[in-house]
Amino acid sequence: MNHLATGHWQAEIERRLEQGVELEFSLVQFAQAVGADAEDPALQRHFEALIASGGAQRINAYRCPMGDCERLLPLGAILDACPYCQTDYQAEGCEPISVLYYRLVGEVSRDIRWVIVIHGMNSRAKWQEAFSWEIANRLSYSAPVLIYKYGWATIDVFARWLHERLARRLGERMRIAIEEAQKSRLPDRPDIIAHSFGTLLLSRVLENPGFADLKFGRIITAASIVRPDFDWDRLIADGRVEAVLNHVGGQDRAVPFAQYVIPGAGPGGKVGYLAKSTLNVRAATYGHSGFFLPENLSVAIARHGLWQAFLTRPLAHFRPEGAFVAEPNWRPAPLVVRVCTRLLAYAVFWVLAPFSWGRRKIDP
Ligand SMILES: [Zn+2]
Repeated sequence: MNHLATGHWQAEIERRLEQGVELEFSLVQFAQAVGADAEDPALQRHFEALIASGGAQRINAYRCPMGDCERLLPLGAILDACPYCQTDYQAEGCEPISVLYYRLVGEVSRDIRWVIVIHGMNSRAKWQEAFSWEIANRLSYSAPVLIYKYGWATIDVFARWLHERLARRLGERMRIAIEEAQKSRLPDRPDIIAHSFGTLLLSRVLENPGFADLKFGRIITAASIVRPDFDWDRLIADGRVEAVLNHVGGQDRAVPFAQYVIPGAGPGGKVGYLAKSTLNVRAATYGHSGFFLPENLSVAIARHGLWQAFLTRPLAHFRPEGAFVAEPNWRPAPLVVRVCTRLLAYAVFWVLAPFSWGRRKIDP
């Protein structure tokens, strides 16, 4: 047996499973794709072994018997005539020819339904306009994108009661969007991309019993300041969230400080999430906003890019480069330290609050 060839065949099978594409094919089609001979007994044995191990199923398929057509007939239908060359089989006295056909056992790829983007602070930064444009144009599906803006949140982030207010507004806005989506016959679960402070607001909405009716598709958190021990596993098990990708910047200098100044925050975007059903991926060279630099963003949402792949592919075989498991012994910094630094931040908040208020009046 030629091990080089079987390795090549297996690689092609794994590629199809990873991408959730071309899961059904005849032996001839597969042989063509890998440059092999469909009559090669080794290739046939390879598929027999795959079937025996439960990795593939044999399905009944037929092709048109007419010499200048020979096309594969639609699966699962018993046809009297060819839908392609219109031959009436009874009139011609012939029958469709049975062909070896396989189905790889795996999930097919998924469409991006629609996306809600929840920004970090300073929602008017230049990159966010570019981001809106890029994401609307570069996703290979024309999925509607809602960019959620909560205006200026600068020193507000130091006060928990202001978070609650911002999170409530976000939850209410998402509920309206989901209702609108249902009216437009879009799926009722949006996918979510959240960045920085937006990740914390999203986690607040998810743990608020008042928003327990909101369900989400796949969630990407970038530069997350959600605590590493946030219970994503429960949300996924309860069907509130389909899957979570935590994209971590290896050079992020802001995330590690979040727990010292922002109530309820943690270094999820540094340590990773402990929840077993989440996927942590580190981009070694990214800083806090590296995800949204035009050159990086285009890569992430391009075909086969990390975000695009996470939002569309079956996840059972999804092992992107940079994937890591979070250190299970993570503990928050000592409470006394966090309380002191937050009190300090809160004091600064009250000193600066009038200026923030003033700026919001002038520059809403
Ligand atoms: Zn035909």
